[in-house]
Amino acid sequence: MGAAHALHVVAALSVMAEARDLQKAIGSGDGAWFAQADGRGRGQLRGADGSLADPASAERFTPTVYLYDNYPGGVGLSEPLWRRQAELVRQARALVVACDCRAGCPACVGPALAVDEAREGETPRALAIRVFDLLATA
Ligand SMILES: [Zn+2]
Repeated sequence: MGAAHALHVVAALSVMAEARDLQKAIGSGDGAWFAQADGRGRGQLRGADGSLADPASAERFTPTVYLYDNYPGGVGLSEPLWRRQAELVRQARALVVACDCRAGCPACVGPALAVDEAREGETPRALAIRVFDLLATA
């Protein structure tokens, strides 16, 4: 979700769109489930019918970030973003890496929960960078 937040930021800037005009969703590539933040900002999985899904029950899936026009039929924002995927991933990674925060903040990965100090490699910021590195090698 942190990586998707950073991608949304750089994507909206690259097409000079208001963030509300370009929306994002995170889910499996087949549409079986999607991720969203609960009332406390913690991610949770929901099935296509909106019911709470168990992350452990998913076998293999294709994690997917959807960036889409927030208008019926679209206004042409998402197509150029599709063509510039690799560039957007690089820019989003650079945004997160360059941020002065330690664990993640609203400027890079979005609102971040307090993190356990002992789990340095699992901060929202570190996890977002790991996702970008995996996307760059995919
Ligand atoms: Zn930050």
